[in-house]
Amino acid sequence: MEMNFVLPTRLVTGRDCVIKNASLLAEYGKKCIIVTGKSSAKKSGALDDMTKALDLVGIEWCVFDGIEQNPSYASCKKASLLAIDFGAQFVVGIGGGSPLDAAKAVAVLATDGKMDEKTMYSSVWERKPLPIVCVGTTAGTGSEVTPVSVITNSSGMKKSFRAITTFPLLSFGDAKYTMSLSRSFTRSTAIDALCHCVESYFNRTANELSRCFAVRGVQILCEMLAKTATDDTLSYEDREKLYCASIYGGLAISVTGTAFPHAFGYFLTENHDLAHGNACGAYLPEFIEYNAANAKELCDSFFASVGVSKKELCALVVENLPEKQVSCGVRLSKEQIDELLPRYENNASLKKCYGTADAALAKKILSKLFLA
Ligand code: NAP
Ligand code: ZN
Repeated sequence: MEMNFVLPTRLVTGRDCVIKNASLLAEYGKKCIIVTGKSSAKKSGALDDMTKALDLVGIEWCVFDGIEQNPSYASCKKASLLAIDFGAQFVVGIGGGSPLDAAKAVAVLATDGKMDEKTMYSSVWERKPLPIVCVGTTAGTGSEVTPVSVITNSSGMKKSFRAITTFPLLSFGDAKYTMSLSRSFTRSTAIDALCHCVESYFNRTANELSRCFAVRGVQILCEMLAKTATDDTLSYEDREKLYCASIYGGLAISVTGTAFPHAFGYFLTENHDLAHGNACGAYLPEFIEYNAANAKELCDSFFASVGVSKKELCALVVENLPEKQVSCGVRLSKEQIDELLPRYENNASLKKCYGTADAALAKKILSKLFLA
């Protein structure tokens, strides 16, 4: 059995974990920058808790709240210049995947005010990124326990980088922060977590441990997606379960990365404004069918472990997608599909899939789902 598992993140979860564990923050310096979106950190109560915790241990802080969904390089650069001016010694990201990924980029960019975009994405930096602390407010990306940062580049394309030094050193997970999340983002972020688990499980780079994380995540998510499909309100206990599942998904992809649903999903966010989870979830039923054909034994053992059938799992995904349709209402012409295909030549995530996942497969699947 071959394994290579590393998790430099101290993960602290539970109700009021930020205030209760304020002393842990003192390890990272005397000054920090808080990186957030426009409203989630305030609405969820996480910003209030974090600033109280920082005050409690005598750490000076400043706030950059200009991170947008699918964060841009330009916003991260702007935040990093504030971090440098302020003399921040560490970065605290508060929010969903967007502010958390942005915090990782700020931690890199703040080590050198002159660093350009190309260098940021290269993952080769002269200086070690500032320490990163994360507080999650969505139950989806698992960015709290991954080294990955997905940033929209200057050409409008989602592109990621990762390094051992961009794992958060400390992450807080208090499900009470996710109580204020809208119904549509609750669903789309849960689908994202499900994609992480399934894409990681059916990944050539998976190992025994990552598959355990993935299976546990899917088990919890199946229970919860049955609820989110019909219920408007979720209890704190439900939110805790969803949060926990998102962490399992994050742990799984921290080993393997993702597969074709994420690779094919990015353009749906960039060009059609689909929430990240929906953009990837649109392909999940196809991904499951693909693996049933290309990795049959693995597929059988997956469904034996997760306790639902292939049909039930696919139905749960569709029930939670916008308009209950895998196309999510997107329509593409043949020319639009052809224009996308160069993205899938030599794509690292596609190479990790069983069988042959390439531009030809992209053409087949995109045409099936979206051809007008
Ligand atoms: P998000 O883009 O961080 O947030 C979506 C929306 O929900 C925003 O409007 C946000 O408001 C709002 N929101 C967040 N938490 C809230 C709360 N508790 N109450 C009320 N509103 C709240 O969503 P996400 O799905 O978590 O993150 C998606 C991003 O993560 C994408 O860029 C994706 O590529 C990336 N991603 C990263 C990884 C990784 O491993 N690093 C994995 C998968 C995906 P604000 O605008 O005010 O924040
Ligand atoms: Zn994702």
